[in-house]
Amino acid sequence: MKILVINCGSSSLKYQLIETNGGKVLAKGLAERIGINDSLLTHNVNDNKIKIKKDMKDHKDAIKMVLDALINSEYGVIKDMSEINAVGHRVVHGGEAFTGSVLITDDVLKAITDCIELAPLHNPANIEGIKACQHIMPNVPMVAVFDTAFHQTMPDYAYLYSIPYEYYVKYRIRRYGFHGTSHKYVSRRAAEILNRPIEDLKIITCHLGNGSSIAAIKGGNSIDTSMGFTPLEGLAMGTRSGNIDPSIISYLMEKENVSAEEVINILNKKSGVYGISGISSDFRDIEEAAFKDGNKRAQLSLNIFSYRVKKTIGSYAAAMGGIDAIVFTAGVGENSPEIRESILEGLDFLGFKLDKEKNNVSGKEAIISTNDSKVKIMVVPTNEEYMIAKDTEKIVNTIA
Ligand code: ADP
Repeated sequence: MKILVINCGSSSLKYQLIETNGGKVLAKGLAERIGINDSLLTHNVNDNKIKIKKDMKDHKDAIKMVLDALINSEYGVIKDMSEINAVGHRVVHGGEAFTGSVLITDDVLKAITDCIELAPLHNPANIEGIKACQHIMPNVPMVAVFDTAFHQTMPDYAYLYSIPYEYYVKYRIRRYGFHGTSHKYVSRRAAEILNRPIEDLKIITCHLGNGSSIAAIKGGNSIDTSMGFTPLEGLAMGTRSGNIDPSIISYLMEKENVSAEEVINILNKKSGVYGISGISSDFRDIEEAAFKDGNKRAQLSLNIFSYRVKKTIGSYAAAMGGIDAIVFTAGVGENSPEIRESILEGLDFLGFKLDKEKNNVSGKEAIISTNDSKVKIMVVPTNEEYMIAKDTEKIVNTIA
């Protein structure tokens, strides 16, 4: 099947056309500055990059341009739009309504709309993308794949905050978790690589990128994850603070004479390794400053980052009653041997034995533990688009 995977932001749209049989990416690209001036579509086929400058006043215009690029006689990859069997949409928040991917119907679209208050920055753009595709491809089945759905298997004692229960009932305040598609994909892939049924495995997946989260996956189900009501909870990240004492918010409001919204903005955009190092949110810049220039605050920011990951690994080992495998993925997890090593340092007592030579790997699947390591340590590049395409294919097959 040929599945078009769509990931809409408020002014951008990422896409991939995937042949699910074999997983080949036929074309992929990015529409930028939608609804702003100087809109640009970058369309990649094999190693060719085609840049098309044309005004896109909304997501409908962007989808039209994407389809035009896909069927273009020169750099297109299909002859006709009818070759697209289905569209898979990434949707950030599914609340408690969705425990898995679903065929998009009017009721589903309404339920996604009901989740806007939980993800005001993301769900509106996702809905825009769905509506634009429905308008232009009315007869093509559409599937929604949620970032939150995979974590809906968390038990209540893991997802509830210890605040008055009525706020959960009245306002749906609970932990949801994010990056679900990535955690699901890499955990499945890890089981395949280990040639063991996922039902038998206790896996910790570390999605470490600009945004970072960790999941405890027992028997294939997420039983805990580090992000919560929003992606601000948990680890220290590129620019996000992760966990802090909530009282800091009112204290900072008073001291800096700023609103709650401004403090949250500081915690989202000016904190994490960026806030500590004062250098960058990009881990490559920070590693360079720390290792090459001996910058102390850059080193400190990396120490804080690794320490938080380490503590979370320990707590998830406790939550699952053991670990069979740990998986590193996303920009930092896939590419930084130094950060992986510092995270695992001192964890031998839990059965981790890192092979330093094998750890010297970047961006490809590998087992990086020693042969006698009790816990398998793995690098598995994430592939959320492929997971979305496979889920979409599965759902479309059930209605066919
Ligand atoms: P997101 O999807 O959350 O934007 P990514 O998963 O693409 O993020 O991760 C981006 C992060 O990965 C950046 O901070 C980048 O510096 C980091 N990264 C990429 N390559 C390397 C590398 N070789 N060493 C260290 N960090 C890297």
